[in-house]
Amino acid sequence: MLTTLFFDIDNTLLDFSACSKDSMQRAFEDYGLRFDDDMFDTFVAQNNMLWRRIELGELTKDGLFKIRWNIIFEKLGIAGVDGEEFEEDFHKYLNVSCVPVDGAKQTLKYLSGKYRLYAASNAPLGQQPRRMKLADLDRYMDGYFISEELGAPKPSKRFFDECFARLDGVTPAQVMMIGDSKSADIDGARQYGMATCWFNFLKTKDADVRADIVIDDLRKLQDLL
Ligand SMILES: [Mg+2]
Repeated sequence: MLTTLFFDIDNTLLDFSACSKDSMQRAFEDYGLRFDDDMFDTFVAQNNMLWRRIELGELTKDGLFKIRWNIIFEKLGIAGVDGEEFEEDFHKYLNVSCVPVDGAKQTLKYLSGKYRLYAASNAPLGQQPRRMKLADLDRYMDGYFISEELGAPKPSKRFFDECFARLDGVTPAQVMMIGDSKSADIDGARQYGMATCWFNFLKTKDADVRADIVIDDLRKLQDLL
């Protein structure tokens, strides 16, 4: 019997693709750089690779902030920009970017009447609750589990141990993890004995994901849960 839902934030409740593209475009403007959509594809590819390394424990978030834009600028053939400095400018915009995923607000409103809702995110603590407030989604959440505060990222066992230590008397079988990342959200939660819902945010075809339910529109949760 489910009593509690964990939601990933980026590309589950907030549209990180839209937020990061907008932030990248603004920071490029600040630096007088020409921006086109192909460049955003390079950001997505490199950023995903780096976040995968964080999930595997090979890289820290601070490490990512140091190298991310230097790698991307090298791939884009843009010379003469200090990636670490650019990261700060990019972050300035990202910290206040808050485009909700379609249907996020009505779905959280509906679910908050039936379940306890927690956010479970690997992204920076200083960013996530603020972005959720700006998107007017914070009011539906009972709390935040942010890896930075918990001391370990999803999908590590330690991340989930720390979550459950903060949830008095709730067992993994009573909780469903909902998120867009097969590695960070689904595999770890399943191994921990939680129910899982993979949100196919990018509408990937033929994805090999083992989850209890799969959706490509958040609003479907209102029928399923
Ligand atoms: Mg995500």
